Amino acid sequence: MVLLASMMLMMAQGTSPEVVAGLGTTQITHVRVIDGTGRAPIENATVTLRDGKIAGIGPSGKTAVKGAKVIDGMGKTVMPGIINAHGHLALVNGTKNDADYYTREHVLDELRQYERYGVTTMLSLGLNRDLVYQIRAEQRAGKLDGASVFVADRGIGVPDGMPPIPHEGDQLYQPKTPEEARKDVDEAAGRHTDFVKIWVDDLYGTKPKMSPSVAQAVIEEAHKDGVPAAAHVFALSDAKGLVGFGVNVLAHSVRDSAVDAELLNAMKTKGVFYLPTLTVDESFFTYAEHPGWMQSEFFKNALTPEAYTMLTSAEYADKVKKDSLTAQHRKDFEQARKNMKAAYDAGVKVGFGTDSGASVYRVPGFAEHHELAMLVEAGLTPMQAIRAATETNASLLGISKKTGTLTVGKDADLILLGGNPLDDIRNTEKIVGVWHEGREVANPAGR
Ligand SMILES: [Zn+2]
Repeated sequence: MVLLASMMLMMAQGTSPEVVAGLGTTQITHVRVIDGTGRAPIENATVTLRDGKIAGIGPSGKTAVKGAKVIDGMGKTVMPGIINAHGHLALVNGTKNDADYYTREHVLDELRQYERYGVTTMLSLGLNRDLVYQIRAEQRAGKLDGASVFVADRGIGVPDGMPPIPHEGDQLYQPKTPEEARKDVDEAAGRHTDFVKIWVDDLYGTKPKMSPSVAQAVIEEAHKDGVPAAAHVFALSDAKGLVGFGVNVLAHSVRDSAVDAELLNAMKTKGVFYLPTLTVDESFFTYAEHPGWMQSEFFKNALTPEAYTMLTSAEYADKVKKDSLTAQHRKDFEQARKNMKAAYDAGVKVGFGTDSGASVYRVPGFAEHHELAMLVEAGLTPMQAIRAATETNASLLGISKKTGTLTVGKDADLILLGGNPLDDIRNTEKIVGVWHEGREVANPAGR
């Protein structure tokens, strides 16, 4: 009876006996703590991890626990594990998108890669197969490692339209009418999806657009089912329409024009999150310019040798140079940067996403650190960028009580860095260790 009661208590707390057993106590001493809330860092602290949770953050020397494993954090920094609110899983095989690649093995490979790069939670924003729910269930039962996965089911696209990514019939809905769309949303909700995703865009006028009546039906039905809705968006007018329908997350930047007070005020009033995904627009041309970071092991280790060879080749650079869309992507990138800053300054909740895993150009794990750097280049302080990727995104996913900040009682999801990202945001790449729900992740990526 007592055992049963304690097991029920553990289940109520969201942990399982498997995870709790054997983690013990770890203390990181003399470390700088960036807690994810935006507060000034705490210097020379000891962070205590016990049974998967953060058990204490206090002055070093005063909080030693007998028998704890001690890690010297002198000159190092801890920050919360990164939360990516816009990624995809198992869509890219080598250098190409491949609809048949979405298997349990490949999904797990990518979740583990995210985790080794310090991305401890990710939202797979559509194009999932149902097998992802089994993985999510095993993770939540404490039986499986990898970044904690949240899902937006298959996602709702447009017949003969978006998204332009190869997929099988069990990876996407393409309803023709609002009635069909409502049925699709109900099916996804029946599988306990975390989000509903819609693609509302015509890809520079080359694809049929989702009709506003379908978009509205999806968002309304999702809310009826108690599920938030996120939208792929490009144009200001679409963004305004979606916010009017009650969408919860704009999953990309507005890029066709400057955001205006009408949109920003509506987003602020309704608490809509904005994910800039600057890496999306930049990824169409940056590799052709051979930036210095392409030589880093941190980048190379994140992709397959074929993909690396392709992205560094003269043929690829030539293709980008000749592509008539390249100028458009540069323009979109500049607009996205300006709009991100305008949204942030207006008080809109700017979250963090990368669209990593959607194509070979957006590399899971690497892309998240690159996006942090691009947010800083576009005008956020390093602290603001880190907060977007941690506390703000935990709130977006509805998991603020569990993770997102280094706070006593929350999950021990954290990255130990060999440098201070407040001095140079690229120091988030100097990963020394990653802990996820208190478990030390093997073979962390690091520069
Ligand atoms: Zn996406």
